[in-house]
Amino acid sequence: MTAEGHLLFSVATLVLAQKLEITPVLAQGDWFHMIPAVLLGSLLPDLDHPGSILGRLFRIISLPLSKLCGHRGFTHSLLAFCGLAILWETQVAPYIAISADFFHALLLGYLSHLLADMLTPSGVPFLWPLKMRFALPILAKKNSKKGERFISVIILVGALFLPPHLTFSLPTQINHWLQMYHDKRTPF
Ligand SMILES: [Zn+2]
Repeated sequence: MTAEGHLLFSVATLVLAQKLEITPVLAQGDWFHMIPAVLLGSLLPDLDHPGSILGRLFRIISLPLSKLCGHRGFTHSLLAFCGLAILWETQVAPYIAISADFFHALLLGYLSHLLADMLTPSGVPFLWPLKMRFALPILAKKNSKKGERFISVIILVGALFLPPHLTFSLPTQINHWLQMYHDKRTPF
């Protein structure tokens, strides 16, 4: 999927997640925190490609990553997603006071990238280091901009027309962990 496709898909996913109130923080979050966070999160997995937006900016990370794991390897997995959450919690959050809605949207953006890549024929190794790839190839071509835009618009329109009381919270344990994070932080 193209960078533009990932950015659009992440914003559509954020609107849907906010409407569904998947976490209380996202439901009441500040769009000025959540939009930049979800956009950043949606670009992070492609750090394993030196030609990607972040890969070009941080070649010191993208070159070794692409050599070691290849494109759509480790960074496109559940393990990397959890690694990001732990890294943020232990290495970033203690030193920079960043609000919980930014953190939740960042994780959502990352996850949206993995879901979006699953819509292409090559899929993603979600359970890396297992080689099994997960795909729901709705997008027939790898970089079909029209198809990518269409899917994002469908999600966005669907989210905007959701019945007001239809919600879908994450399991209590996950929300509890996220809430603990929220309680510890001072919002910016
Ligand atoms: Zn990707």
